[in-house]
Amino acid sequence: MIQQPKQRSLKYYTFLVVSLLVPLIGFFIYATQYQTSFFAFITIALLVNILLLSLFYRRLKMKKSGLKLQREEFFEKANVLKADLENESLVIASFRKKIIAYSQLKGIVEKLSMCLSQEDSAHTLCHEVGRLFEHGDATIILYLFDAATGDLAIAAAERNQRAVNIKSKRGDIFDNWIMKNLQPLYLEDARNDFRFDQEKVQEEEARVIRSILSVPLVVNNKLVGILRLDSPEASRFHKEDLRFLRTIGDVAGVALENAQLYDKVEDLAIRDSLTGLYLRRYLADRLQEELARHLRRDKSVAFIMLDLDHFKRYNDKFGHTAGDLVLKHMATLMKSHFAGAGNLLCRYGGEEFCVVLPECSKEEAMSLAKKFVELVQNEAVVLRREKTPVTVSAGVAVFPVDARTKEELVQRADQMLYEAKRKGRNRVCGAP
Ligand code: GH3
Ligand code: MG
Ligand code: MG
Repeated sequence: MIQQPKQRSLKYYTFLVVSLLVPLIGFFIYATQYQTSFFAFITIALLVNILLLSLFYRRLKMKKSGLKLQREEFFEKANVLKADLENESLVIASFRKKIIAYSQLKGIVEKLSMCLSQEDSAHTLCHEVGRLFEHGDATIILYLFDAATGDLAIAAAERNQRAVNIKSKRGDIFDNWIMKNLQPLYLEDARNDFRFDQEKVQEEEARVIRSILSVPLVVNNKLVGILRLDSPEASRFHKEDLRFLRTIGDVAGVALENAQLYDKVEDLAIRDSLTGLYLRRYLADRLQEELARHLRRDKSVAFIMLDLDHFKRYNDKFGHTAGDLVLKHMATLMKSHFAGAGNLLCRYGGEEFCVVLPECSKEEAMSLAKKFVELVQNEAVVLRREKTPVTVSAGVAVFPVDARTKEELVQRADQMLYEAKRKGRNRVCGAP
């Protein structure tokens, strides 16, 4: 608000009047005493002067009030202009903020667009959000929603730009709230929120959680995941942060969904549609990598070749569809028996399968293969309501003791498989 200048003081006018009156009174006394006719003339002249002065004064007063009005109008306009200016600078500041936010968002979009797998996208998103919010003690967590199981699964978590281990792998009470309501969650203090049972809050998580900023990632009305920031300090985030996180969430949801689709397409290209096991051409590339990696580290890689015994008979007796059922059954048993991390399971072709076991000795591979042959024998498959026994033969070779190259390794295992067939099937043979 612009201040109006103060009115000129009355003292000034009083002084003026007094300074005029004093010589006048003196002159009046002198004239009445000594010059009566002169006095009469002077009095009339004075009266005319007073009249003129009062007329002049009235005009002056009117002008003054006009000026006062103008001045007030001016100050009013100045105040309006000042308010407009303040508004403009607020708008400029908010535009500036928006430009920064959009360029940050653009950065995230560019980085996400370079990620092809969902795993890569998840880590990039978590890292970039951590970089943008820069709260030293804040934890950034990205959960992905599995529509098949209806559960959340942690995809990435960071604090201070480093990966952290979070206890609640499937989300906590706050994440479940978001999953149920599909609404963003902004908590200034989780310990003082009527929506959450305090006992449960403290039971669930080993970390202290006070402030939470969390948004659901929704694409086409379907939950893709949850992006969340939390801090052990109360009132750590602002409402403005939530708005920005929501915008990031909109972009991230689509990126994660696309990455998931890409993963699926890629999976379709490398997996056999009947059994879900890897295809032979994918195995060829992976086997080469595994052998090179293990050779550098002086470790062994076991290779098991498997072939269903007399498989043709199932086709001939029960039909091709039943034969497919046996192949699926075999794949299910393989997945459960050779479930170790890093193991590669593959449908080599027709009714032949193979397993790559990294860091596995010949003894371990032989033992695993023998147990698998027994498992297949014990788990009969039901074909046309008939329990039908299935058996398999296996050949085992180990890199680098039995073979120095990928081709040699496969060939050695195949020779051993042939040996197992020759010796009567339903058995394992290993390279001597
Ligand atoms: P062996 O014990 O010597 O291995 O005898 P086998 O009958 O298992 O071997 P063979 O190579 O003579 O027969 C393999 C059969 O597998 C021939 C083919 O029709 C069948 N087959 C290959 N791929 C598929 C498939 O995808 N589905 C079905 N149902 N059969 C298949
Ligand atoms: Mg066979
Ligand atoms: Mg065969």
